[in-house]
Amino acid sequence: MPIESYNPYTGRVLRRFSPFSWAKTERILGQAHRAAATWAATTFAHRAGVLRRAATLLRERQDELAHLMALEMGKPITDGRAEAVKCATCCEYYADHAEEFLSDELIKTDAGRSFLSYQPLGVVLAVMPWNFPFWQVVRFAAPALMAGNVGLLKHASNVPQCALALEKIFHDAGLPPACFRTLLIETNQVEKLIADDRLRAVTLTGSEGAGAAVAAAAGRHIKKTVLELGGSDPFIVLADADVALAAKTAAQSRMINSGQSCIAAKRFIVEKPVLKEFIGHLKTHLLALRPGDPLDPATQYGPLARPDLADELTEQVNDSVAQGAKVELFGGQAKPGTALFRPMILSNIKPGQRAYAEELFGPVALVLEAKNAADAVRIANDSLFGLGAAVWTADPKKGEEMARQIESGAVFVNGLVKSMPEMPFGGVKKSGYGRELSYLGIREFVNQKSIWIG
Ligand code: NAP
Repeated sequence: MPIESYNPYTGRVLRRFSPFSWAKTERILGQAHRAAATWAATTFAHRAGVLRRAATLLRERQDELAHLMALEMGKPITDGRAEAVKCATCCEYYADHAEEFLSDELIKTDAGRSFLSYQPLGVVLAVMPWNFPFWQVVRFAAPALMAGNVGLLKHASNVPQCALALEKIFHDAGLPPACFRTLLIETNQVEKLIADDRLRAVTLTGSEGAGAAVAAAAGRHIKKTVLELGGSDPFIVLADADVALAAKTAAQSRMINSGQSCIAAKRFIVEKPVLKEFIGHLKTHLLALRPGDPLDPATQYGPLARPDLADELTEQVNDSVAQGAKVELFGGQAKPGTALFRPMILSNIKPGQRAYAEELFGPVALVLEAKNAADAVRIANDSLFGLGAAVWTADPKKGEEMARQIESGAVFVNGLVKSMPEMPFGGVKKSGYGRELSYLGIREFVNQKSIWIG
């Protein structure tokens, strides 16, 4: 993929970037490796000062950052501002809590004193997707930098200006430049980086294919990985639920970022007695949303990030309909090669259809009928993915019981699945492994060293 800013709303290329040569990438890696030793020796208070300044800059520059997201990947400007502020909160959270999360932990053994000490690994590579161009990176970078690691970012090829803007924020906040660098590189340089002994670990957020390629390379070179991959999150609605509220939240969840979110609800598994009512409400909420220019503050959803992504989604929908899915709400692309995709609802989703098995990364709601709660859990688990899930019921005890049975990294009962600094985030099955955020996230890229003193 060329490294370029392409406006999916206007269809214009805004800027092209020449990829870094290997010699340049290798020089940056060397600088990062040297900087890692000095950064690791700084105090938590010093690092917290840098992260707090970064938070201030993220808030101050929210308009500029939202503008970049709108231009490069079509995110409505209001959502872009909220993303920048969420990143600021995340920086502050780790500035406040990293020391507590990484303080020595005493362990009782036969020693005079024994404990776990958490020490930084060094240079960590982050391979990131375009859908939340700042949030995906910050939720890796804030804990990693606070733990004393340094970061190299290979961002998605369509958000280079976002990647450079974030690098500038960290540098302007006082982080030594070599401690966080954006690499404008193509994917074919990723394995070369992973193979280098100066690089210690990799985190990837993205598709299953990219995750498998990066994890295979990391495996060959014995490097730790965290993978945050795709999802086809179930959203279960039981007959006793507040169906109107569930459907309103369902529309909100499906339409996050024009439907391009890993934890957007994608499969709506509804008990038969409330199926029609649910579809009716869902339709109303989806139709009420206003599409338009991402730069217009009144726009509620913009185009997909690239026209090829919209073409691919159309193919998934057409194949599923040919395989028996029923269109409840017509929408989709106006014509091939255009990025705007209006919301759709498909029902009668059955095994053997693409929509049953694959992730639909865009505003298409899939409705599946369940006989009862146990059947709903069975359908929810009949997926290769396991990222997030939601259960809607008037009985919180039943919701909790079902939450324990669902195969996923998170379950929200009567709520919208979201990521936040305090809660661990990650998946099971083909949605990946490892956790980001919370005290678990910060401990992914540290040497959990056992020290025994006789
Ligand atoms: P993608 O195509 O996998 O790209 C993600 C990143 O991986 C990009 O930087 C991409 O670079 C790079 N990449 C792709 N193939 C690679 C390879 N063979 N070796 C090394 N790097 C490679 O994913 P996307 O289309 O940007 O994002 C959508 C997917 O990400 C969806 O499946 C979504 O569910 C998932 N996602 C998951 C989470 C989560 O937290 N679990 C969050 C957001 C998104 P190029 O751009 O240069 O190709």
